[in-house]
Amino acid sequence: MDIIRQYLSSVLFPAHCAGCGQPTETQSLAIPNPAICPECIERLERTEQFALRNNLTEDLFAQNKQFERAATFCFYDKHDLVSCLIQKAKYGRHPEINLELARLAALDGLQSDFFEDIDVIIPIPLHTRRYKQRGYNQSDYIARGLNEILHIPIDTTHIERVRNNPQQALTTGKERERNVENIFAVNHPEEMYRKHILLVDDVITTGSTIRSCMEAMSAFRGAHISVFALAKTR
Ligand SMILES: [Zn+2]
Repeated sequence: MDIIRQYLSSVLFPAHCAGCGQPTETQSLAIPNPAICPECIERLERTEQFALRNNLTEDLFAQNKQFERAATFCFYDKHDLVSCLIQKAKYGRHPEINLELARLAALDGLQSDFFEDIDVIIPIPLHTRRYKQRGYNQSDYIARGLNEILHIPIDTTHIERVRNNPQQALTTGKERERNVENIFAVNHPEEMYRKHILLVDDVITTGSTIRSCMEAMSAFRGAHISVFALAKTR
C-alpha cells in the first residue's frame, strides 16, 4: 500500500529535479519520486574509473598497505551540476539525491569487477555533534543506494568519528592533513578480521579524510580496504 500511496502522491505533486528545477516524471513504481531528471543524469560527467586501475583516485591511497582499489563516479567542479547535487544532499536536507546517485553509480560499477569480493560497506561517519546538527549522514545514503543494487551489507558500528574537526572547506593543503589526524577510532576490530571493506564518501579532494580513516583501520588485521566516492575534484 505504501508504495502505491507514494506513487499517487508523486503523480499529484510532482517532485522537482535537484539539478535543473524542472518537474520530474514518475517513471516506475519502484522509484516514485526521482530527485534527478533523465536530462541531468545524462549530463553527469563520469570519471569512468570503475574498470580503470591505477587511476587518479587510487594514486591518493596507494601508499596504504591494506589498500586494494578505488573509484569515483563523477567529476566535481565548483558550481557545476555534480557539485550542486552533492551540496544539496549534504547541506540542503536532500540526502535522497545521494541515494539516487549511488544507485546510478552501482549500475555503472556492475559493468566492471569493481564491487566483486567486497564483504561490507562502511560510510565515513560524521561526529555525533555534526550528525545531530544535520539530522543525517549524507554518506549513509550513498551506502544505502549501493546496497539496494549490490546487496552488500552496510556497517556503521565499527568506525566512529571521535574528534569533530573543522569543516575541510575552511582549510587547505597541509592544514588538511593535520586537521584530520586521529579523528577516527575503531570498535571491536577483531570482527573485521580479513574482511574486504568498501569505504564510502561523497567527495574526494585530497583524500586526507579517507587516509586518516584507513590509518585507524590498520587495527582491522588482515582486512583489505577499497574506496568509493560519488565525486572527485580535478
Ligand atoms: Zn534536471
